[in-house]
Amino acid sequence: MPEPILDLFELEKAWSEEQKETVVQIRRFVNQEVLPIMQEYHNKGVFPKDLIPKLSKLGILEAIEEIDPITYGLTLRELERGGSEIRSFISVQGSLVMSAISKFGSEEQKKKWLPPLGKLDVIGCFGLTEPDFGSNPSAMRTRAEKFSGGYKISGSKCWITNGTLAKVAVIWARLGDQIHGFLVETDRKGFDARPIHGKWSFRASDTAEIFLDKVEVPMTAILPEANSLGAALKCLNQARYGISWGVIGAASHAFEETLKHLLERPQFEGKPLASHQLIQNKLAWMATEITAMQLIAKHIGILKQEGNLKSHHISLAKMNNCRKALEVTRTCRELLGASGIHNEYHVGRHMTNLETVITYEGTEHIHALVLGQHLTKIKAFV
Ligand SMILES: Cc1cc2nc3c(=O)[nH]c(=O)nc-3n(C[C@H](O)[C@H](O)[C@H](O)COP(=O)(O)OP(=O)(O)OC[C@H]3O[C@@H](n4cnc5c(N)ncnc54)[C@H](O)[C@@H]3O)c2cc1C
Repeated sequence: MPEPILDLFELEKAWSEEQKETVVQIRRFVNQEVLPIMQEYHNKGVFPKDLIPKLSKLGILEAIEEIDPITYGLTLRELERGGSEIRSFISVQGSLVMSAISKFGSEEQKKKWLPPLGKLDVIGCFGLTEPDFGSNPSAMRTRAEKFSGGYKISGSKCWITNGTLAKVAVIWARLGDQIHGFLVETDRKGFDARPIHGKWSFRASDTAEIFLDKVEVPMTAILPEANSLGAALKCLNQARYGISWGVIGAASHAFEETLKHLLERPQFEGKPLASHQLIQNKLAWMATEITAMQLIAKHIGILKQEGNLKSHHISLAKMNNCRKALEVTRTCRELLGASGIHNEYHVGRHMTNLETVITYEGTEHIHALVLGQHLTKIKAFV
């Protein structure tokens, strides 16, 4: 049985037997298959593609429509224990690409794409951000134009997860006055995905810049029900929900590693570091924050199950849990001393990854503005 997660409020007891089994299954997978290889791939700066068939066997996304929100959240939490890169790979595939097709696609699109995407036989990516428009995608420049055979799409997308692995890209583009979603096969003429090098966060994730030069797609490539930026934002909300759960995995894994080290390393009169008051103060703070993150995740899970989850709830959860996870991992880094900057521990990788997670899918500022608007009824984005 793998070691259980830090659980001061004994929240794990409340999960159904099926949910508990999911936690054990994914935790075991992460311990055996993910954690042993991540530092090597982080150093190499490439995504561990060998994990794809193994992740496929877990069957996480095949039944995504039927999985209850808490089981999905627990799955992402356990995956992110192995690394935000792996959780992100699954989140983009499930919460962004598959969710765009199942929410806004035609029956033919669903039949064609959802089964191979669910099995990870086909990888997808989600192209919303552009080099000049990140927090404000409504100003995007990528355009689609109708022609006799379908649409021609031109423009560029930046920072796209799974970008070079993808066989199909959900590309958001302007068509007339509206923003629409298109399913673009990446082997089409004029489509070019180039890896972004030089990252110090998400090094083991596939991040690409995408160039579209009059890429021709058939009429059937447009997502018929995605006629505004709101459609893209609905997919993002699904992904942000998963992030709020996922980051608990990264923070609690960093905490586990750090606590073990503090109990084992003696300093000053042979006493373990864990016996010093200042250290215990930091451990208590971290455990409290992780517990608060767990409570928030559980509660948004319940709200989602009841159909009552609203955008400002998701913004609160994404904003709080990413900030606190980042602060926890920074604190762990500090408590590990020099070892904290070394690959022997996963803490540094979790910490640098969380700098991405606090930035993508709406930065902390953007979520604060969503919450601010809810509180004041005043839009303060511009
Ligand atoms: C590793 C990685 C993977 C990613 N994967 C994807 C993906 O798969 N698909 C995709 O479409 N995108 C992806 N992104 C892009 C990500 O969503 C954007 O980076 C993010 O939305 C922020 O945009 P930006 O980087 O252009 O920052 P900017 O929008 O330029 O913001 C810079 C700073 O200004 C602040 N700011 C912006 N506007 C305001 C305002 N009105 N008020 C106050 N502060 C403001 C921001 O909070 C931030 O601190 C990824 C990014 C990274 C790093």
